[in-house]
Amino acid sequence: MIVMRHNSSQLRARLAALSVALLLCLFAGLSPTLAQPGVPVVDLTLGSSTQGRPITAIRVGSGPRKVVLVGATHGYPERNTYALVTQLAEHFRRDPAAVPPGISLYIIPLLNPDGLELQSRFNANGVDLNRNMDTAADDCPQNDWQPIVAGAYGLTAETGGPYSDSEVESRLIRDFLLDADAVVFFHSNAGVVFPACAHQPSADLARIYADGAGYVFIPQWDRYVITGGMSDWAGGLGITALIPELVTGDLPEFEQNLGGVQATLNAVESIVPPAEPRVEGGIEVQPIIWRAWKAWGGQALFGQPLGPAVKTATGWSQRFERARLEYLPAQTTTTAPVQSALLGRELFGPEVDEPEAPAEGARFFPETQHNVRQPFADFWQINGGLPIFGLPLGPEQQTSDDVGAPVVRQVFERAVLERPVAATSIFEVSLVPLGRIEWAQIDARSIQTGIQAR
Ligand SMILES: [Zn+2]
Repeated sequence: MIVMRHNSSQLRARLAALSVALLLCLFAGLSPTLAQPGVPVVDLTLGSSTQGRPITAIRVGSGPRKVVLVGATHGYPERNTYALVTQLAEHFRRDPAAVPPGISLYIIPLLNPDGLELQSRFNANGVDLNRNMDTAADDCPQNDWQPIVAGAYGLTAETGGPYSDSEVESRLIRDFLLDADAVVFFHSNAGVVFPACAHQPSADLARIYADGAGYVFIPQWDRYVITGGMSDWAGGLGITALIPELVTGDLPEFEQNLGGVQATLNAVESIVPPAEPRVEGGIEVQPIIWRAWKAWGGQALFGQPLGPAVKTATGWSQRFERARLEYLPAQTTTTAPVQSALLGRELFGPEVDEPEAPAEGARFFPETQHNVRQPFADFWQINGGLPIFGLPLGPEQQTSDDVGAPVVRQVFERAVLERPVAATSIFEVSLVPLGRIEWAQIDARSIQTGIQAR
């Protein structure tokens, strides 16, 4: 009996200790803010890879400057950068107060989960994500996106993708970074740190990273030309960007890179200029809206700004000839800090929606039960897809344009696509100028009411 009682009290003590340990684990996992009051840590899922694997991040801190660390763009052969960035995430989760109060630090350990799983440098479509960006905005014409890319030992490969920003992973990081101040893309294993092409704040910050990590700073990658690279894309939009190449191909080199990251975080507020407004066609464009406009197709897709940005209840709004772009600061933890307004729905949305059956040779959207035929389907996909144009709201319709020529139009949530009746090429597709149409309607209303609505 005594032995039994002794055993059961031992068991109870063990169970009690176990539940305390479990509670501690739960608190450590779910609510690290308890350890560091005032410095929040948030787990995020930014989206999915080509094969549907989640791409996750943590945010540490809530300061106004957005700094992002990105691991394993090059998948399996550079998996030591995944290990490194995972360890960095664990470090800052344990010690969030190490992030300066002016900064929100976002840590994405694995941008290319399919590459890691498939034991490949590329994504699941065989595309090199660090050769797939539209780098035309920077001052380095030699690095502009190409389908055939250069590599080590003079080798070339057709891994740039079918067109720039073709991959979901490229679009995910592009859109998440639109409101970022600085980004560090980890690669291996050349043992150097280098900045975005021809962008002085990037060079200044890369030097600070290199000094902090004990790595070698080089002003430019000089072994071959990197076309369509992520850091050059970022620098072209004024986002300070650098690449540490780890020295080894297998070790995380955690202590060195923690030194580099900490030095970088401490320097961001003094080195990295805030995003600047840009002037397009004589009109000042809001800084973050300008980046989205530029990154998503600029003048060619959206046309020129029609007027200055307007402050709204949720952020900033600016009208262009063929779209209205909204910057929503509350969306900074998502890939949609900038959104194209639902002008297609607002101005041309059908009153009665007749669902269609899937048609031969068309892309069918089950969400709204509508078909998108060629060449609209390719235009929609290549120029940005769902976030830019939204879902189809009706079938193609034959109508006439503003000079009376017969055209085919299709209404989407955020745009109306138009083409000549006989068109077969995406180069004959254009966007109906919804920004102008909305502008004219506002003008007409303000004339009626006598109120200046602008
Ligand atoms: Zn790499």
